[in-house]
Amino acid sequence: MNEILKEIESRIERIESDFKKSSVGKIISVADGVARVSGLRGAMYNEMIAFEGGVYGLALNLGEDDVACVLMGDVSGIKEGQGASTTGKLLSVPVGMGLLGRVVDALGNPLDGRGAVDFSETYPVEKIAPGILPRKSVDQPLQTGILAVDAMIPIGRGQRELIIGDRGTGKTSVALDAIINQARLNEEGIKSGNPDFRPVYSIYVAIGQKNSKIARIIQLLEEKNALKYTIVVAASAAENASNLYIAPYAGCAMGEWFMEHGMDALIVYDDLSKHAAAYRQISLILKRPSGREAYPGDVFYLHSRLLERAARLNSENGGGSLTALPIIETQAGDISAYIPTNVISITDGQIFLETDLFNQGLRPAIAVGVSVSRVGSAAQIKALKQVSSTLKGEYSQYKELAAFAQFGSDLDSRTKQIIGRGDRLVEILKQNNNTPLSSSMEIAILFAFQNNFFDDIAVKKILGAVKSFKDYFEARFGGLLSEVASGSKMGDELKEKLSEACAEWKKSFN
Ligand code: ATP
Ligand code: MG
Repeated sequence: MNEILKEIESRIERIESDFKKSSVGKIISVADGVARVSGLRGAMYNEMIAFEGGVYGLALNLGEDDVACVLMGDVSGIKEGQGASTTGKLLSVPVGMGLLGRVVDALGNPLDGRGAVDFSETYPVEKIAPGILPRKSVDQPLQTGILAVDAMIPIGRGQRELIIGDRGTGKTSVALDAIINQARLNEEGIKSGNPDFRPVYSIYVAIGQKNSKIARIIQLLEEKNALKYTIVVAASAAENASNLYIAPYAGCAMGEWFMEHGMDALIVYDDLSKHAAAYRQISLILKRPSGREAYPGDVFYLHSRLLERAARLNSENGGGSLTALPIIETQAGDISAYIPTNVISITDGQIFLETDLFNQGLRPAIAVGVSVSRVGSAAQIKALKQVSSTLKGEYSQYKELAAFAQFGSDLDSRTKQIIGRGDRLVEILKQNNNTPLSSSMEIAILFAFQNNFFDDIAVKKILGAVKSFKDYFEARFGGLLSEVASGSKMGDELKEKLSEACAEWKKSFN
């Protein structure tokens, strides 16, 4: 008898049930991509709500009588009176290596016509950022390949660096260069077989851009052999606001997967101004009270909870990192507007791009004086630090004096010298987009500048001189460049060799 009881008990224990509690409701109204559903008792904030035809919504307003859901995907078939049910799941997206090289929408569905995305795991799009304990301070460089950035505004893995500027000042280009340079470094690093090499995988989130622009970006990444290390998450201007709202969180979840698996990832949010505008639109439809510039009161939290998720984890937690490059578009250079000030205060520094500089042909149009990186210098490559530590000071001194010098008064020789060097530095820092430099070349160029090899070349000829310098070094001093490439502090011997090489180039150039 007892045995029979035991058998029954153990069988009952082993029974697995698929039973899930879900509640079913009815749509009472649909408008502007928002459905109000009655009868969804027990719906959670941010829960996925299933509608007819495989459409999902996100429960954002939990009212006493109804739940307001923002709808995602193709919502044309959603009508009043249809049913809707809770899923018990928070909104999640596919994650993993299988997403590399793919273009997906805000829910991780493929947009590139190359079949289903290969994944075995999903991550919730919203997640609490790592606290203080699992984190470590930034100590590894993220090389952008942009000389001005790597030298004066260095970025470290796990950092959040804002790219900010007016329309058409080259914001996207700076971010894409960073992605393209990671791909270049990945190729090199994997080829070298160095077991310590850490690739950086990129995620580019396009928010509210025209489809044609997104297509050009994808094409560029492909041409530069960078797409295979990149995930593109696209929510174009043609899509409804909820997709734009979700896209950065979805991209972030994909980036977190790399970080939590001990790898390094870089994520670009292009741009968060449009993200804020989408959120404002949703909030107005949901009839949430609005405040300054008609944004809802929690718009700060919108971006802080996103950017807090970028981190560098300590070795007990796998040592992975997620570096974030959010982009903000300003109007007439006004960085004191609501959204720009918010995001400036959330990030670890900003790269400020200016229309005037851009139009003067100073590209990348970085306003050096107001661009900073608050944590990256701890991670800067040592040899690069050696040759660039005085650069920012020299640049700002030059800017100050150059403003006076235009009045044409007599200048003393010291002032003339500072202005002369500044004029040349400005030229040296000019760099076309899509042409990232290796860090060893950056070091060599700045070493030559620091040791006055460019001082007696006419300003007009500097661009040509830099090009000749690069070609000469690549052709003749490949070995020396790879010695520099180790990045460790340069000793006297190496400096001596560099000096001799610079002198040899100079002779050939003259
Ligand atoms: P938007 O506000 O439209 O998003 P943006 O600030 O992202 O613009 P980009 O699209 O990156 O700017 O660049 C604008 C134009 O300037 C592009 O045609 C780009 O090729 C060019 N450009 C950007 N950076 C450079 C550079 N360093 N050298 C030469 N041209 C550049
Ligand atoms: Mg852009």
